[in-house]
Amino acid sequence: MSRCFNFSAGPATLPLEVLQQAQNDLVDYQGTGMSVMEMSHRGKDYMAIHQNAERNLRALMDIPVNYSVLFLQGGASTQFTAIPLNLFSFNRTADYVNTGAWAKKAIAEAKRYGRVQIIASSEDRNFNYIPTLTPDLYSADADYVHITSNNTIYGTCYPMLPDVANKALVCDMSSDILSKPYDVSKFGVIYAGAQKNIGPAGLTIVIVRDDLIGNALDITPTMLNYQTQADSGSMFNTPPCFIIYMAGLVFEWMLGNGGIDAMEVRNKEKAKLLYDFLDQSALFSATVEGYARSIMNIPFVTGDEALDKLFLSQAEANNLKSIKGHRSVGGMRASIYNAFSKEGVETLVEFMREFEKSNG
Ligand code: PMP
Repeated sequence: MSRCFNFSAGPATLPLEVLQQAQNDLVDYQGTGMSVMEMSHRGKDYMAIHQNAERNLRALMDIPVNYSVLFLQGGASTQFTAIPLNLFSFNRTADYVNTGAWAKKAIAEAKRYGRVQIIASSEDRNFNYIPTLTPDLYSADADYVHITSNNTIYGTCYPMLPDVANKALVCDMSSDILSKPYDVSKFGVIYAGAQKNIGPAGLTIVIVRDDLIGNALDITPTMLNYQTQADSGSMFNTPPCFIIYMAGLVFEWMLGNGGIDAMEVRNKEKAKLLYDFLDQSALFSATVEGYARSIMNIPFVTGDEALDKLFLSQAEANNLKSIKGHRSVGGMRASIYNAFSKEGVETLVEFMREFEKSNG
């Protein structure tokens, strides 16, 4: 077996132990004589997997009892639609913060159903910072305030959560859920695609405060209505059973490795290794301002496109894979989610040091 250091932004590297457990269970799940992929989603074996996954996620994130956890499909992108449909009141008004390409997509969807006020933006500097949010920015009639906690493409992250007082704070947490503690009680809705810190692609997690369920616009498709999903325990139709099983294994792996607090310590150590190197390098530089730096996605550049290209090809040849930056930022991006090892970051930094010696 040979495993590379996979810096992919998502789908992203998974814990080896989880993949091996899945391999072990693949054709005969714990003596049932069938794969999880082949089980009835209403049978007791699968139900136990499903309930266990939810219980463990609740434990990891300390999710209060007045929040529902939904296991859905359609990616975070489908939530861009579901959020306004479920949360708009007769005002049909919401505040959005524009911190990048995903926020823009969320804004575009919400605009189809109501009035969107962009209360702050970092577009003026290609989204390399997080705008400051002050109480005077929020609209009096906004049904909710939407943020993207971690901007996967640009590598920015809110240094602290905005205080939206009595408004519902809605957060696309796709790329930093489970990477550090978040106080769930501060949010109205948290949503995230699974394919970074949770498991394989194909599962979307929604954590929604119960008083926000049951008020969807009449036009809301049944499947997008949080009420449908909450009432049926995410079993209105066939859930993505195998992906939920995989997510459950990842949650067990996290619990067995110290939970979210331990993930945060490791993630900060890993990110510091790379940022410290970048900040002293004469060749490479980080693209994001210090206070807004993500510990999950770290973009960096040499400032010379030809050199970036050379770096990428040599990195690939040295088993450092999927480290090309998003085309809107260029250069490189190291995505170092929970399952990405410290050894992988050390190897990258060493490789960069050598590259700088030869090309600086
Ligand atoms: N939001 C963020 C912050 C993302 O990084 C992504 C995907 N990488 C999305 C939304 C879209 O997620 P999905 O592909 O699950 O629709």
